Amino acid sequence: MTPVHSPSPRRTPDPARLLLILDSLADGVLFVDSDRTVTYANPRAGVLLGSSAADLVGRSVLSVLLAPGMLDLARVERFLASEEEALWAEEGRFRREGATTFPVSYTLERVGGGKAGVPSGVVVVFRDLTEEQNAAANLRRAQVEAEAAQQAAVQKAEFLANMSHEIRTPMTAILGYADLMGQPGTSAEELREYHQIIHRNGEHLLAIINDILDLSKIEAGKLVVERIPCSVAEIATDVHSLARQRAEEKGLGFELEFSGTVPESIGSDPTRLRQVLVNLVGNAIKFTSEGSVKISVIGDPLQESLCFVVADTGIGITEEQQARIFEAFAQADTSTTRRFGGSGLGLAISVRLAQMLGGVIELESRIARGSTFRLTLDLSDQDDVDWEVGDSLCRIPPPPSEIRSLPEELALAGRRILYAEDGPDNQRLVRHILDRAGASVTIVENGEQAYEFALHAETADEPFDCILMDMQMPVLDGYAATQRLRDVGFGRAIVALTAHAMKGDGERCIEAGCDLYLTKPIDRRHLVASLATLLAEHELAQ
Ligand code: ADP
Repeated sequence: MTPVHSPSPRRTPDPARLLLILDSLADGVLFVDSDRTVTYANPRAGVLLGSSAADLVGRSVLSVLLAPGMLDLARVERFLASEEEALWAEEGRFRREGATTFPVSYTLERVGGGKAGVPSGVVVVFRDLTEEQNAAANLRRAQVEAEAAQQAAVQKAEFLANMSHEIRTPMTAILGYADLMGQPGTSAEELREYHQIIHRNGEHLLAIINDILDLSKIEAGKLVVERIPCSVAEIATDVHSLARQRAEEKGLGFELEFSGTVPESIGSDPTRLRQVLVNLVGNAIKFTSEGSVKISVIGDPLQESLCFVVADTGIGITEEQQARIFEAFAQADTSTTRRFGGSGLGLAISVRLAQMLGGVIELESRIARGSTFRLTLDLSDQDDVDWEVGDSLCRIPPPPSEIRSLPEELALAGRRILYAEDGPDNQRLVRHILDRAGASVTIVENGEQAYEFALHAETADEPFDCILMDMQMPVLDGYAATQRLRDVGFGRAIVALTAHAMKGDGERCIEAGCDLYLTKPIDRRHLVASLATLLAEHELAQ
């Protein structure tokens, strides 16, 4: 009979093989005898502890491993001294030669326990967790970034959806009422009403587009704020005069007050500062039906700050709404647009602008009692602010006297105007406006024709008083045409009328040789008044 082999008892590998295994382990292994001396260290333990395996042998385990404060020293002592626990696994930090530490997971296992031939002691096995922890940290960072990117994508989608909605709403009214105007049988009164609706919605649409452009420029980091000397009193007074009519129409008290020591001049961006204040004051009037709106300008020489406070006695804003209204497209409640108009972009732009101007906007409000918006500018980095100037110097300049002007129908009487424009709708619109103001208008379709017509009229002794020049045109654009005319000594007025309404576009037109820069959409009164003034100035100069 063939002997049946029972499974062989666990064979002890020979010492040489055991050593090979220990040498190739990725974990550090130490054998610590009962008096806590390291009696064996594998090569990996040497590498991890910043020493060589041979150097570790003979040293006290505590001096080898322990990073002060990184392990529970008392517990290690208890483990080494007692027989109670056979295995202890934990995470902590071990010390590396040279006083640095590294994260580990480790086990302390009691072995031997008095068995014959097996020395009793503790086997320490430890694994460096640096890479794992780095990988985990990288993963966490990647997760946070991915979440932020996703949130940004959601916000962008929401922004686009909001934008589309905000643009479509007035657009719907414009197109709808324009269509109605063309229906037969519409009464004169209805026509007047539709016309007003179209006009109002067109203006609203323009305001939204301007706000969106501003906000996207700010978000893209493309909006640059200036720091030039600005008169505080002038800015505050401008904002006050701009809004006065609306406050009066609503029967509201509307005051401007200076207190504290208000410096005469600060370094800031007057356009942007005015924009923030106009928005705050505009909102205050819009959301107040009774009572008053007050603008206070308060200088604080100790804090070196200047504060513009806009306080109203209007509808107020709940705390929950206060948390949201500085976000883009946020309105306190969804019926706001219907009741008060507005896009919900004004405050989002204002806080960002305030920040760029070195300031903050704070808000205090109580429902049905009113709201106070406070714009505080930090001027501590401005050396040339004169804090010695008292408030007596902050006299409010009188409102500019009304400019006396001719009635619109006569403003351009007898003027000959050459209009260069390739778009038929604008051609008709401007011809209509200028005709009604008494001018005679010749229309050409590009810069080259403008150049030829203008010079020909000079030689024929029937000169145009002015060229109104679209800047983007086929064949020869307005910039090149103007430049050419100036190069040959053409001295009459040239006015740029362009849809290029971004910062820097005006300068470009003036550089090309224009006397004036007007933007589309066309404001009829502004166009006529600007041309009349410019032509009168030209006449005086000749
Ligand atoms: P909007 O163009 O809608 O006025 P804003 O960003 O300027 O946009 O304001 C956002 C919202 O904050 C407003 O729609 C309104 O609900 C609220 N709000 C702003 N100012 C006031 C105020 N002075 N009183 C009450 N509510 C205000």
